[in-house]
Amino acid sequence: MTQSAWERPWCGSLTRANLGDTVELVGWVRRRRDLGGLVFVDLYDRTGLVQLVFENLMVGEGERLSQQDVLRVHGEVRERAAGQANPDLATGEVEIRVDELELLTKAETPPFVVEDDTNASEELRLTYRYLDLRRPQMAASLLLRHRVVAEARRYFDEREFVEVETPILTRSTPEGARDFLVPSRLHRGSFYALPQSPQLFKQLLQVAGLGRYVQVAHCFRDEDLRADRQPEFTQIDVEASFVIEEDIFILVEGLFGRLFPLVGITPPALFPRLSYDDAMERFGSDRPDMRFGLELVELAPVCEGCGFRVLESAAAEGRVKGIVLPGGAALSRKQLDELSELVRPHGAAGVLWFKRVADGFASPAKKALGEAGVERFLDAAGAGEGDLLLVVGGPEKVVFAALGSLRLQLARQHRLVPEGRHDFLWVTGFPLLEWEPEDGRYYAKHHPFTAPRPGDEELLESDPGKVRARAYDVVMDGVELGGGSIRIHDPELQRRMFAALGIDAEDARARFGFLLEAFRYGVPPHGGIALGLDRMVMLMAGRDSIRDVIAFPKTTSGSCLMTEAPSGVDADQLRELGVELLERG
Ligand code: ASP
Repeated sequence: MTQSAWERPWCGSLTRANLGDTVELVGWVRRRRDLGGLVFVDLYDRTGLVQLVFENLMVGEGERLSQQDVLRVHGEVRERAAGQANPDLATGEVEIRVDELELLTKAETPPFVVEDDTNASEELRLTYRYLDLRRPQMAASLLLRHRVVAEARRYFDEREFVEVETPILTRSTPEGARDFLVPSRLHRGSFYALPQSPQLFKQLLQVAGLGRYVQVAHCFRDEDLRADRQPEFTQIDVEASFVIEEDIFILVEGLFGRLFPLVGITPPALFPRLSYDDAMERFGSDRPDMRFGLELVELAPVCEGCGFRVLESAAAEGRVKGIVLPGGAALSRKQLDELSELVRPHGAAGVLWFKRVADGFASPAKKALGEAGVERFLDAAGAGEGDLLLVVGGPEKVVFAALGSLRLQLARQHRLVPEGRHDFLWVTGFPLLEWEPEDGRYYAKHHPFTAPRPGDEELLESDPGKVRARAYDVVMDGVELGGGSIRIHDPELQRRMFAALGIDAEDARARFGFLLEAFRYGVPPHGGIALGLDRMVMLMAGRDSIRDVIAFPKTTSGSCLMTEAPSGVDADQLRELGVELLERG
């Protein structure tokens, strides 16, 4: 066995083209079958598996092997016996007649079946993640992720972007989430923050004259987690000087045109664009899934003077909108009640339904509205015979959130998403600031460095809620894949933006003084975007959770089941840091 490790073939690579070759293979045992005088073993690595045959003098050696043992074998590639080929397997026409075996390590029985079709809970899989990653679909996800990153790096390199690493130990960056803090031993009482994104550094690199920056960047946000969120995640982070929105759109459309074909998806050359207002009015969401209809319809005009107080006052004080489900009149009372349950978490009182059936109309509002009143609603919504109209009234935010989520739920329940269809789009024209009634102040919808639209600057003081931002999001199939903006590069405008956010000059100097200082010495106009790598690979791999495309993810409660992080630390360590615990969580 003399072959260099780098020349050795992978288990999954052998085909008819190798017939007659003698090869050396290494890998793990997946399965063993004894057929009396003949032993078959599936040997696998991250690329797939190949069948080994132990016959004659080698039978005894084969019989010793069990699942997950690690082997080195030597043998001849030969054709499988007639009728034994496996068309589902890349290596299905060949097998290796083993003439030499070295058992490199013996494995204990693993805690779960290490195959795609496993019996393991996600908890168990995360505890033994290294075994989980041996499953072919997990290995494929890691490989795909690598190919996406490699291709993205090539794409940006061709366009003369420079990859620069920015610090992990830094100070708080303003993306609106909670920071992870790291106590400093040398500066007792002071803390580093882990970056929520490299935002300020990538802007400073433009002041530094770099011109085109990219980074596969780790970001940290201490937020409540969901299936598509992790406390640490990866962005393809981009910033460039002397650019406008169109330049960023062209750059990202080109990038997606290189990345998505890796999984057989061809995005359009130009993505359609939708304004934030249209997205909200038509889909109740700023990341609309446009692969199906069920658009929101306006019902305020029919509510006025309709005779049903609830609707009249909802329309007068807020919004009333609806969704028509074609053929939905067949839904049962129980199914309709369940739809009401779905909207309550969004603050809506429930869903009011209207049905147009062959012999008339049905609705709980029929008594108040009368037959003709019900018909007016169905007509206004364009609901035909057999259709169902679902109506929600209340404050605008509630109506959008409730119907936006109802729309997705209905599409899922009634399988309205065409198989294999993918939609890409840009959402633009976001508000710059968002009013938070609880805190009685404005927050930056994107972050405080996003530029207002030219012409809107004057509204910063007079009507801040009306200012539109030079921000954009790229959305695929209802998932936000990334967002960015053209930045403020005028120190005076930046000061006015801080003022609109309630950050006074002193506060601004304390928190972002280095940026404001930098802007005094010749700052180029600049802008950029950050793309969520985990979500992108998740969609490409057709998975539902970003945990499936991250090698070592955290659970929804932010812990790593394998390493048991976060963990307690020694009292000595805390003393050194000058940290005292109030209580243990
Ligand atoms: N730093 C922003 C974010 O992480 C993206 C950007 O504005 O480029 O969302």
